[in-house]
Amino acid sequence: MIWNEERETMADGKKKELQTDLLRALIERVYEKIPFYKKRMDEIGVKPSDIHSIEDIVKLPFTTKNDLRENYPFGMFAVPLSEVEEIHTSSGTTGKPVVGGYTKNDIEMWSEVMARCMSASGTTKDDIVQNAYGYGLFTGGLGVHYGARKIGATIIPISGGNTKRQIMIMQDFKSTILTCTPSYSLYLAEVAEEMGVDLKKLPLKAGNFGAEPWSNNMRREIESRLGIMALDIYGLTEIIGPGVGNECEYKNGVHICDDYFYPEIINPETGEVLPPGEVGELVITTLTREATPLLRYRTRDITSIIPGKCECGRTSTRIQRIMGRTDDMLIIRGVNVFPSQIEEVLVDIEGVEPHYQIIVDRVGALDVIEVQVEMNENILSDEIKDLEWLENRIKDEIESMLGLKVGVKLVEPKTIARSEGKAKRVIDKRKI
Ligand code: ADP
Ligand code: ZN
Repeated sequence: MIWNEERETMADGKKKELQTDLLRALIERVYEKIPFYKKRMDEIGVKPSDIHSIEDIVKLPFTTKNDLRENYPFGMFAVPLSEVEEIHTSSGTTGKPVVGGYTKNDIEMWSEVMARCMSASGTTKDDIVQNAYGYGLFTGGLGVHYGARKIGATIIPISGGNTKRQIMIMQDFKSTILTCTPSYSLYLAEVAEEMGVDLKKLPLKAGNFGAEPWSNNMRREIESRLGIMALDIYGLTEIIGPGVGNECEYKNGVHICDDYFYPEIINPETGEVLPPGEVGELVITTLTREATPLLRYRTRDITSIIPGKCECGRTSTRIQRIMGRTDDMLIIRGVNVFPSQIEEVLVDIEGVEPHYQIIVDRVGALDVIEVQVEMNENILSDEIKDLEWLENRIKDEIESMLGLKVGVKLVEPKTIARSEGKAKRVIDKRKI
């Protein structure tokens, strides 16, 4: 369902005009209010008056996560704190958290984009949203909360964790929409199975899953174990939190709310802008954000823009599912490896669970990886030789996917730590 017909199906020409107007106003604002941007623009000799259209965005400087860290906590704020209604930080998955500020209008914009994302997965005012993203400094919980409120749905602000209670509430309150990380949704399925509850028989019909990379195979697993439609939601604290974009029911790419967040794909080494279809780093400019506006923010997330328009009627730019982050990418003996590639193989193999961990180590001068995979209860009793056969099969499949030798070790059921939020997939012993 399309939440905002006028904005989401806007003709390309009109969208460009809107983006141009917003970009010009943004540049004036950041140049005047944020010393960091004034300095950066002066250094490269760009004035706000040099920006005539959205295409001129390439003249503007990039912003990196490091710039945000150097200006921690409030150095990048464009408004006084008295106008800031809320502050959030990133989860800190890859280091010191970064800070985002929200004015009243920013919260309103966040509610709007989240309402679009949740409508895309079928949420209406008649739905009951079980929001199992963490509430707090993390943006997941409150982002979904604001979107569901805007739609007028009933919100269960249960937050992450306490998994048995989640299942009980889901049964008793008849939740129809589930929001959490994809890895947590599978953990919920596992606990429900242990409790003898068949999630497929409950009223649950759809969910927005995001905050970490996942694969299409994982989607199939979630859809069949929970009996729902599972759609991908993307976002990051620096830009707004969840709500940067969401898949529609056609499941062919994430629609970016590009009237608020202008996307580009660049070659991460050279900074050159890449055409649709080519894979690189996603860069986003927040066209309207008031408290913490960002010019050409390098997200470090790897994807590509999908050429052409979607059948759903939305005209927004679509990106492929995020493959991973540049800083999560392992380079093993010269081969680029994303954990999501390994996940894709595992989800399709009978006898193992999609719970895994990748251990990277250095033996002599050589980097080696071992993939630890959980077997499921059914095969635990199998003969050792059958387990060896299974290990070898997984090894072969991963090796042919990556073109790289890997070790595979089957581990006992439920021994890999479950996460209530973002799953930790890689343990890199090389740095320790
Ligand atoms: P942190 O960088 O500390 O994890 P956030 O909590 O703001 O900070 O998370 C944002 C990041 O989470 C994104 O930059 C991206 O790497 C990842 N992410 C969010 N949604 C998705 C998604 N749908 N698919 C893949 N990765 C995602
Ligand atoms: Zn679509």
